[in-house]
This record gives sequence, structure tokens and C-alpha cells, in this order.
Amino acid sequence: MFRLNPDRFAARYGPEWLAAATWYRENSPAVPDDPDLVLRHLDHPAVAQKIEAEFAADTRRRAAMFEALSYGSASFLLTTPGPSLSGVLLDALGTPRQRAWFRELVSTTRCRTFFAVTEPGRGSDAAHLDTTLRDGRLTGEKLLFGNGAVAPVGTVLARTGDGPLDLVAVLMTPELIESGAVRRRVLPMFALPGAQLSELRVDGLRVPPEAVLGSHLKATERGMMGMLKTFHRFRPGVAAMALGHAQALVDYVRDHVGAARPELDRFDQMLERSRELNAAAAREVDEEPLRGALVSLAKQRATAAAEEVAAVLARELPVAALVDHPWLARSLTDVVAYEFMEGTTPIQLANVHAGYLRREVPV
Ligand SMILES: Cc1cc2nc3c(=O)[nH]c(=O)nc-3n(C[C@H](O)[C@H](O)[C@H](O)COP(=O)(O)OP(=O)(O)OC[C@H]3O[C@@H](n4cnc5c(N)ncnc54)[C@H](O)[C@@H]3O)c2cc1C
Repeated sequence: MFRLNPDRFAARYGPEWLAAATWYRENSPAVPDDPDLVLRHLDHPAVAQKIEAEFAADTRRRAAMFEALSYGSASFLLTTPGPSLSGVLLDALGTPRQRAWFRELVSTTRCRTFFAVTEPGRGSDAAHLDTTLRDGRLTGEKLLFGNGAVAPVGTVLARTGDGPLDLVAVLMTPELIESGAVRRRVLPMFALPGAQLSELRVDGLRVPPEAVLGSHLKATERGMMGMLKTFHRFRPGVAAMALGHAQALVDYVRDHVGAARPELDRFDQMLERSRELNAAAAREVDEEPLRGALVSLAKQRATAAAEEVAAVLARELPVAALVDHPWLARSLTDVVAYEFMEGTTPIQLANVHAGYLRREVPV
């Protein structure tokens, strides 16, 4: 019943990701109880297909891929191996050697990765982190970051001093993670459990120079500027996940419940407008990675659109529909997570405002 409709999928997203999205959807009901199930299927063609495409993708292509796969299942998508945000960060800050090492590890072992910014005392405000890298030792705590306790490799942001340029990223290799100075655990989750949000504590971990990203770059390029490029390039991917998730809800209700038809047509149009905005934002950031206003607007709009779809359906659908369709009830719940991924609405709107003042956004 929860299987996706291949004709609808192909009409909207084309054939490239149909098999993968179908497989994602089939796996989605099991994710809350078994978020590591993908590890038993690493030889499935969809696993390698996504890893390779993600490494090769620019922002626009990543957004298109993430929307199609999220239509299959956003929660399962978050459990799957791939470079994710760390791959984008390495593209911005890594040496050819660091990038090649990471790509080889992720591609050959088909592993998941993490990217740790968020902290208990600071949230995801990368400019004011408490985690430090001083005298080659990493100390701090990260919280609420995806796959943090289950991935064998990832990146951690830390400060090296008190100035605006004193921000670095550390490549956490399997050896560093297993060194004894790192403790981590998966946190209990309700919405979008495939993310496996985690906690990581690191106490005086000795970090070799080759694990620090951006040492070959100027301080201006490796600090906040490098992080901003990464956030801007990844944000359309998160917006796309919200859109694919919402479109899947709309199509599911159309195919299986048959209620709220006028609303479904309105949602199609709303999601299409948001999709066009997101594609334009992705195009812009591929050309000018430091221009963040349009991507913030697109992310805010996509999140709001997905939340509206979920709120209206939750209100309008007969209760029996939610009881009879557990996939629907679960998917309506999972939508709340997008607001907290890659920056909340107030932060996105502050970025839009800053872009407006820089004359980045057309009035
Ligand atoms: C599914 C999921 C996956 C995630 N994956 C990752 C990951 O891979 N890596 C990672 O590091 N983190 C990850 N996160 C965490 C996420 O990035 C943050 O929790 C999220 O951005 C919320 O930001 P915050 O914690 O900084 O909010 P807080 O700073 O705690 O803010 C709380 C509230 O205050 C508002 N606020 C904060 N600052 C301002 C301001 N200056 N002006 C106005 N309002 C403000 C915020 O909008 C928010 O409403 C993930 C979260 C989820 C739900």
C-alpha cells in the first residue's frame, strides 16, 4: 500500500532514480525500529548509485537527486551511505590528497558520514563554537548531528582562537574516532529517525596536521568563508528533501485516500513554485557559492510549504485514514524535522535580509 506510484514518479522526476526511490519507499516502514538496516544491503545497486552521483553532483543536481530520493523516503535517505555535507566541505577545504582519501573510503566501504557543527551551548552558530582545537588537541561536545555515532568518518568544526577567522574543520578518521578520546551515542528520536541524531564528546584528542582541513588555504578562505560555501551549497539539498517529502504526501493521499482534492491541486502548484525557486537558488550558488540569500529564501519556502501540506492533511483527513495508513501518519510527523535542518526560519530570514542589504536579492 505504501509503495510509490511509478508512473507518477517517472512523470515528475524521470527514470533515473525510480528504482532507488522505490526501494527507499519499501524500506521506509522499518527505519524507526531498524535505522541501520541499509548496512545489510550495501550491495544493492541503489547504494553505489547514490554515492557516485553525490560525489559527482553540483548543487542543482544534488537537489534534484535528493528530492527524488526523499519522495521515496526521506528517513531512509538519511540512513544511506554517502559523502553528505562532509563531501561538500572537503570540496571547499580539502587538499587533493584529503579529498581522494575520503572518496576512496566512502566509495569502497560504502559508509555513512557525519558533519558536526551543532553544540549544546551554542546551537548551530558556527561563529561562536565552544569546541576548540588548540595546540593540536580537540576538545568539546557536539549534539544533534546526523549519523554522528554510527558513521566511521566525518568532520567536526572547532575554533582555534577568538577571532572571526579562527574556525577550522577537523577530518575525523576512523583511527581518531576509535582513539579513546572520543565518546558518542545516538540520541532518542521521534521525527525522521533515520537521521540518528547523535552526541559526541571529545576530550583532548591529538589531531595530526594532515587531519585539519584547509591548512593549505589562506585564513580568510578556510575560516567562515569555507563554511558558508558549504552551507550554501548543501541547503538546496535540504529544501529539496522537504519538497520531495511533501510531494510524496500529496501523491499518496491522491492515490490511496482520495480526500482533500482541491487542496492537493493547490499543493502541487505551491510545491512547483518552491521547486523552481530552489532550482534557481541552486544554480546561483553553483556560480557564486558565497551568495546565500536566495538559498535561504528557498529553504525557508520549501520548509513552510512542506509544513503547510502536512498541517492541512493532518487536519482535513479522516482519522481512519491515519489509522489505515501508518506510512501516512509517520510521514506527516517526519515533516517537522526540516525546520531544524540547516538552520531555522529566523536564521534563513536573517540571511535574506542581509542579502537584501547587499543588493543580492532582487526586490
Ligand atoms: C534531522 C536533523 C538533522 C540534523 N543534522 C545536523 C548535522 O548533520 N550537523 C549538525 O551540526 N547539526 C545538525 N542538526 C542540528 C541543526 O542544524 C540545528 O539543531 C538547527 O539548525 C537548529 O539550530 P540551533 O540548534 O542552532 O537552534 P538554537 O540556536 O538553539 O535556536 C533556538 C531557536 O532560537 C532561534 N534563533 C537562534 N539564533 C537566533 C538569532 N540570531 N536571531 C533570531 N532567532 C534566533 C532559532 O531560530 C530557534 O528557533 C540536525 C537537526 C535535525 C533535526
